[in-house]
Amino acid sequence: MRARLAQTSLRTVHKCFPVLPRVAAASFQYPVLVVPMARLNILRYPDPRLHTVAKPVPAVDERIRRLVDDLLETMYAAEGVGLAATQVDVHERVIVMDTSETRDHPIALINPELTWASEEMRVAEEGCLSVPQIYDKVERHASVKVQALDRQGERFEMHAEGLAAVCVQHEMDHLRGKVFVEYLSALKRDRIRTKLLKKARDGQRDD
Ligand SMILES: [Zn+2]
Repeated sequence: MRARLAQTSLRTVHKCFPVLPRVAAASFQYPVLVVPMARLNILRYPDPRLHTVAKPVPAVDERIRRLVDDLLETMYAAEGVGLAATQVDVHERVIVMDTSETRDHPIALINPELTWASEEMRVAEEGCLSVPQIYDKVERHASVKVQALDRQGERFEMHAEGLAAVCVQHEMDHLRGKVFVEYLSALKRDRIRTKLLKKARDGQRDD
């Protein structure tokens, strides 16, 4: 997800972890192995692969930790506040986000499940790294609780409000193949589709 406006009064409880380079333990028997993080290609709407339903992650292993790190690298490089694996054509239930103003609170949610949602709804303007330069209003729950596994495979619960609540609902939609423009009218959606197809055809820069 991409945020356009600075958000105030966030109160998000979550577990954080530092983003460290992947360095295998050095020993006399094995050479030090450094695996650089990689920026992944972000699918652009209306790519049909964005409508794929993601499968649960069977185990949080080194492959998934690498996916988390690559998603974070890609999200930060694109100046997004959230990114779902679906958006990089990996159809497993993994999302990353960082809605902090300081951009130093990366969160990974693996197999996230909504456990509670407020009755109160709120309308906020959303953008999406898969739908460049398009922002529109979407109504969502004002606050939510989400249970997930973290990068270490530990279960945790996140209580999200404000931008974090918008972001986690937006990213969890991606995992079930839903892009935020699907909340908009058919007319608006068609206009966005036409605009982005034309842009892709013209090979313009889109960010
Ligand atoms: Zn998005």
